[in-house]
Amino acid sequence: MLAIPYLSHTGQPLTIRFRCLEEHDHRAHFHGKYNTLKDDAPRMYGVDSVHAAGDTIDVTEGELDRIILRKLGLHAVAIPGAALWLGRHRRMLAGFNRVRVWGDPDDAGSDFTAKVCRSLPRSARGMRLRLGDVTETYMQGGVAALLDLIKEDEK
Ligand SMILES: [Zn+2]
Repeated sequence: MLAIPYLSHTGQPLTIRFRCLEEHDHRAHFHGKYNTLKDDAPRMYGVDSVHAAGDTIDVTEGELDRIILRKLGLHAVAIPGAALWLGRHRRMLAGFNRVRVWGDPDDAGSDFTAKVCRSLPRSARGMRLRLGDVTETYMQGGVAALLDLIKEDEK
């Protein structure tokens, strides 16, 4: 499995999540696509960006989507799913003027985007992903496809 370390803003390891990279029925192999350490508290991924960002921050629905946005030079954090967006995460992003929310273009992603936007009504806006999630959009359209969505949002 791919190990995804969660680091503090000073680079200290906080936890590790795991993503199975096999194209198979994960349940039949007694694990999920994503796997968390037992009893681990839900965390924001990439909190160093909260400290490094200016007045704008990006929020993705998955860790790998956050890695793509970091490649573009954006400051971004990830929350692995709507159910894991907590009040303390809202407080961590409350000081930003603009919060771009990159939920996946599916029902779960809509829930994610709606939940984050409701809890940060003055700053958060959902991004209009059409080709797929952040990673799929990047694979199909490259950096330009993601930057075009940001330009569209700024109009
Ligand atoms: Zn698996």
